[in-house]
Amino acid sequence: MSRTLDHLLDQNVAWADSRTRADPHYFLRMSEVQRPAYLWIGCSDSRVTANDVLGLDPGEVFVHRNIANIVHTSDLNILSVLEYAVEHLKVEHIIVCGHYGCGGVERALVAERSAMLDHWLQPFTMLYRKHRDVIDAIADAGRRLDRMCEINVEMQVRRVAATPIIEKAWMRGQALNLHGWIYAVHDGLLRDLGPHLSSIAERDALPTIDARVLAPAEPPATMKRRQALEAFARVGLESELAACCVCDPSQHGVSP
Ligand SMILES: [Zn+2]
Repeated sequence: MSRTLDHLLDQNVAWADSRTRADPHYFLRMSEVQRPAYLWIGCSDSRVTANDVLGLDPGEVFVHRNIANIVHTSDLNILSVLEYAVEHLKVEHIIVCGHYGCGGVERALVAERSAMLDHWLQPFTMLYRKHRDVIDAIADAGRRLDRMCEINVEMQVRRVAATPIIEKAWMRGQALNLHGWIYAVHDGLLRDLGPHLSSIAERDALPTIDARVLAPAEPPATMKRRQALEAFARVGLESELAACCVCDPSQHGVSP
């Protein structure tokens, strides 16, 4: 095994060279102040990279990622990101985006409790345990995991909306929209799960996350998106998802 990463440094030179050839002012623009309109809160999974999934250039989306896109309201990391994004960058949209087949979510469904990761996942694990009868009644393991991935997104959107940072922004009249999305690694498409939240009143009118667990709903989809989903399904890319790297430390190691 090489001790150096010269191949990555060489790739960097090639990338910077091609960018500059295509657009001589590219890095000059990048060096100016960033003004992203979006904050992305997503999973650390190496296959779910915000800029690629959204088709955005550097500078267009501010990003926070952690295992299973969990929002801990005592996590200084995510709170700092939120505060900076809302109060300084003035982002207009915050997207909490999970992904189907998430190994972090899968870990929350197993009995083992031996890693730091289990502390991290604890709020979601407790939700699962509370509704275990309902969730475990989904016979197909893949569908059960996917359903929990969706529930996790909805839960984390609610937790973002509950932070004083977001409340303060809404109270001073700042335009700020929260979204809950999920990404499918097997077809590259995003699904809008909701909820959409733009005010304290909308947040407070939401059914509880417990109610959402008990009353699942199909993600709403635009006509264009439905056509894309059907087209991809016909090509035969239905979910045989590789588990996220953190699902089984004995097989995959523990680093995300
Ligand atoms: Zn994940």
